[in-house]
Formats: sequence, structure tokens, C-alpha cells
Amino acid sequence: MTELTQIVSTTPKNTLDIRFWPTDICNFNCEYCFPGSVLNINKFPKDVKLVVNNFRILLDEYQFSHGKTFFRINIAGGGEPTLWPHLDYFCKEIKKEHNVQIKLTTNGSRKLEWFKENTENIDKFTMSCHYKEVPIDRFVENCDYLWERGSHIGALMLMDAAHWQECLACLEKMYKSKYSWPIQAKEVVDAPGLDINSYNVKQLNFLKQPLKRIPDGEWILENLDDLQIYESIAFYNNDIKPVTSNYYISNRENYFKGWRCSVSLENLVIAHDGKITGSCQEEIFKDANLSLFDDNFEDKFNRSKLDLQPIICPRNCCSCQPDTHVSKEKI
Ligand code: SF4
Ligand code: SF4
Repeated sequence: MTELTQIVSTTPKNTLDIRFWPTDICNFNCEYCFPGSVLNINKFPKDVKLVVNNFRILLDEYQFSHGKTFFRINIAGGGEPTLWPHLDYFCKEIKKEHNVQIKLTTNGSRKLEWFKENTENIDKFTMSCHYKEVPIDRFVENCDYLWERGSHIGALMLMDAAHWQECLACLEKMYKSKYSWPIQAKEVVDAPGLDINSYNVKQLNFLKQPLKRIPDGEWILENLDDLQIYESIAFYNNDIKPVTSNYYISNRENYFKGWRCSVSLENLVIAHDGKITGSCQEEIFKDANLSLFDDNFEDKFNRSKLDLQPIICPRNCCSCQPDTHVSKEKI
């Protein structure tokens, strides 16, 4: 019988991925927003110097104890990260002492002037289009500006099964943009009232090929990493396969309870309250209350980091695509 025994991520060993959610406020109100994303409780960390300092302590530890020399920080939400007033300062400062690449995932609703004034230190942009509230002309204008400036951008259209025509109308507007930046269309699943069964056959066929526009062949070659052709290698007892995207989830091979998982060394989340966990939000540090936004972070961290090592997966199901591709092995 074929049995999956190990997954090895294709992300280089020297790279640490960090998703950073600096705020839990948003100017949109999407029905499918993930519960717990827009709480309006923490708002955002006020002391950005403290945040930068504590980030550096974290990056130093990964650099000197775990060989990480390249940090990909994806500043995202929910919560809309452009509402964090210290975003630009943070991006500028965090690059000074470490090799950091910054991606901003935004709903693209800020005015063009905001993008002109606040994004000089951001390397990549995912412009997420949410049909209900997006000012679509401004969204397209912002994408054109960033592309013209030479920034690395991609638009992501969230396709809501119940509002399909509105989503298609947004795509139509994007197709008429001045420049041919890439566009992907993606189903909304794992959201209140929406799962893969919400989509009819025609919609599923449309979503089979998520890339709806690609600039040109040269762009593909330059962006192979982002297209993530293969995200991990799956080792079976009798086979080895490079795989991508929702492979494990669609094959129902995303059940890793009891496996040894390297999420603590490959992919982190820093949540709205400053809590640092694995990307699946499992605890990875000895001190579960460790917050990157705390005054006493350094003291607590120095005690807590001693335990930093792969964890034993406690979950019945690994349900988020990037988490499934984290390196892990059956024990
Ligand atoms: S834009 Fe994003 S964070 Fe804001 S409500 Fe919509 S899904 Fe949630
Ligand atoms: S749920 Fe977390 S710990 Fe479990 S396999 Fe997925 S990433 Fe690893």
C-alpha cells in the first residue's frame, strides 16, 4: 500500500517565512472574512521602535542558531495592513540589519498618493480584490502605478461563489488596465458559509486555471519562485513526487497528527497581539504568552527560545495550503 512518509519543502534552507499581521482593523467588511481577523481589539502596536527592536532579536536568533540568512516577511491581514500608520517606518528599519524581503498583501483601496508616499521599501505586492467594497478604478490605477514603477505586483481576485457576476465584473475592469500585470483568480474556501461545495461545475472549471493573465514569457522565467511550480517533494514508501498548491488537501493526505513538523523553523505567524507561533498557529516556544509587542519581550524570549525545535503535530488536519508544504516526517 502506498503511504506518505515525509514532505520536504522546496523553500531554501536559509530562508525563513514570516507572516506578520500588524493590525486587526479593516476598512472593508467582506462576508467571507476569516473569523478572528478583524477584531478591532488590538488596533495596532503603537511603539514601532519596540516592534523593530524585538523583530531584530527574533531574526538574530534564527540567523545565528538556525542558519537563516534570508527573511521573507509578508505583511498581511486580516486586518488591512496599510492602516498601520508605522508601516513605512517598519519596512525601512527592518531591512537595515538583516537580509529582508518585504511583501505587502493589501486590499488595494488606499489612494494613489498613499502608495506613492509609503511603499518605497516594499519589494512585492499582492493586491487582493474583494468585489463588495473595492473601489475598482482606484485599485487598477494603483496596480498600474506599481507596475510602471517596476515593483513586483500581482492581483488576486477572490471569487465568491454567491457573487460570481460581481467578481467577473472586477476581472473585466482589470483586463482593461494600462499594463498587463499578472492576475490570479482564487476560490474562497475555509470561510463562513463558503467551501468548495459552494461552487457549481462551471465555476469550478473557471477556477481550474487560476492564472488569468500573465505578462509574458520573460516574466514567467523571472518569477518562477512566486509561481511556486513545486512547493514540496512528497516521499512515499514506493515513490517520490514534486507537488504544488492544494495537492495534499485535494488528495486528502493532509492529516499529520503525531508527525515531526518543522513549522517552527520554516514558517511563522506574528498575530495582531504580537504572539509568535508556527504558521498554523501552533505553539512553538516554551512561553505561550510570548508577545513581540511586549516591553519585556527580550527577557522572555531568551528563556523561551531554548526549546526551539521541530514540533510534534497535535492537529487532526493541516488545512492551510502553505502549512501542508512545510517539511515534516512520520515518526
Ligand atoms: S479586506 Fe480582507 S481583512 Fe478586510 S474584511 Fe475583507 S477579507 Fe477581511
Ligand atoms: S498543522 Fe501545523 S504542526 Fe501540524 S503538520 Fe500542519 S504545519 Fe505542521
